[in-house]
Amino acid sequence: MSTPSLFQEFAVDLAERKNNHLYRSRRVLDSPQGARVTVAGRELLNFCSNDYLGLANHPSVVAAAQAGAARWGVGSGASHLVAGHFAVEQALEERLAAWAGKPAAITLSTGYMANLAVVTGLVGRGDAVFADKINHASLNDAMALSRAEVKRFAHSDVAALERLLAASTAKRKLIIVDAVFSMDGDIAPLAEMLALAETYDALLYIDDAHGFGVLGDGRGTLAELGLASPRIIYMATLGKAAGVAGAYIAAEQVVIDYLINTAKPYIYTTAAPPLIAAAMLASLDVIESDTARRETLHRHIAQFRAALANSCELLPSRTAIQPIILPDVETAVKVSQALFDAGFWVAAIRPPTVPTPRLRLVLNAAHTDKEVAALCNMLQLVLSY
Ligand code: PMP
Repeated sequence: MSTPSLFQEFAVDLAERKNNHLYRSRRVLDSPQGARVTVAGRELLNFCSNDYLGLANHPSVVAAAQAGAARWGVGSGASHLVAGHFAVEQALEERLAAWAGKPAAITLSTGYMANLAVVTGLVGRGDAVFADKINHASLNDAMALSRAEVKRFAHSDVAALERLLAASTAKRKLIIVDAVFSMDGDIAPLAEMLALAETYDALLYIDDAHGFGVLGDGRGTLAELGLASPRIIYMATLGKAAGVAGAYIAAEQVVIDYLINTAKPYIYTTAAPPLIAAAMLASLDVIESDTARRETLHRHIAQFRAALANSCELLPSRTAIQPIILPDVETAVKVSQALFDAGFWVAAIRPPTVPTPRLRLVLNAAHTDKEVAALCNMLQLVLSY
């Protein structure tokens, strides 16, 4: 038996990544997700999960998942269209559509799949997509898979977007943008983009993975900015602020019906377990009623920015994502490790995920003010080396 020669190539590639401080590996949690977690027997303050509201291990959401398993079983057994669409999912879709102020919605197992579903379901050859350069990787993959013509514009550059739209002769035009950019935390100029969609008869697809639950009293970035239009197709993920899993797409009924008929990542996959929908309904109850969680999160964001304004290069973010740009990947890895050793779990994000290495700090409603203050003190210490 000989080892495939390709394995040697893989090993060389991985060694190169290690040398360049770009090797990726995982840490294993021994506890549920939360503001405080246990990794290899050590309790850490967790400043890198997207569980913004601390709902991933919330008692009422966990209880709803358990009751959901008892009522609906574990597996869905089929795709939504064949035999895998349950009453609890129908109820969740209706509630999520109303929450987004849209007539209809569908759910998918992950946000990644939702992005593939919308873009490949709505556009193809002869059409064009217009995308912000720092959109999420899943949107980039979705565009490539769709075979539509891809036009990228510089980050939040509305004038550049207009030039591309004006020059396009494509049949269908789809503008694609993160509402809150996942590695920078800033908000896209959605009002201006919607105006351009009107002028150039385009649709506007908004990925609100990081605004849902956090902005607009929990309804997300569109509510925060007071925007609504049938031209907007809205997607939010449910594994971040909602603390569960999956994603939903909300739009006009005809758009949702079209996606159910055309989107392969929706049609050709086993539906998520129905207990996920049961947990999500409980999570929505908390998102709706427990406004104190959001207030605490926004207080932490303000506290963090005030504490570090004079000592770090902060980005213009008013969301839970607060990056600190660092000079190079080696520094990013070293600083992240120093924080880890001191009991603070903070992710170093490197190319190719981002062009400039950084710490991606994520604040959480379940932290205490004291814990946020301790993080800021430690950051000042490790960044002054
Ligand atoms: N869109 C954005 C902007 C994201 O940040 C992410 C997750 N990192 C996704 C989509 C994918 O969502 P999911 O994790 O549910 O697949």
